[in-house]
Amino acid sequence: MGGRGQFSENKFNGVYEWFTVRIIVGKKYAAKILDSNTKHKLPEESHSPNAIYARLNEKGKIYQVRIYENHIPVYDIDITHEHSPFGKPHVHKYENGKRIAMEFNDHFKDILDDLGIDYDKK
Ligand SMILES: [Zn+2]
Repeated sequence: MGGRGQFSENKFNGVYEWFTVRIIVGKKYAAKILDSNTKHKLPEESHSPNAIYARLNEKGKIYQVRIYENHIPVYDIDITHEHSPFGKPHVHKYENGKRIAMEFNDHFKDILDDLGIDYDKK
């Protein structure tokens, strides 16, 4: 499903093209899995105000989920790499221009579970 529908927009970053690989829909949340021909990081702005985007690694596994509010990132859930002392998955919160590491708590667990995204169960 989905195909490689392109939704590149100049306001994102001018040059990078983003592709929707797949849309996953849970009971409460929906997320777009994005790919890009040039860039490995998720967009700094979302298309719709409150969005969830995800990226795949080379093995085709979702490694990062980014949650946006009012078009800007508020949380990243990093699924596949360790971040001491939080391990994996862990979360980064965007606050006053900083990206602060924090615990993967029930709220984020709920999001991944709802979307059926695989992660190391603790
Ligand atoms: Zn991290």
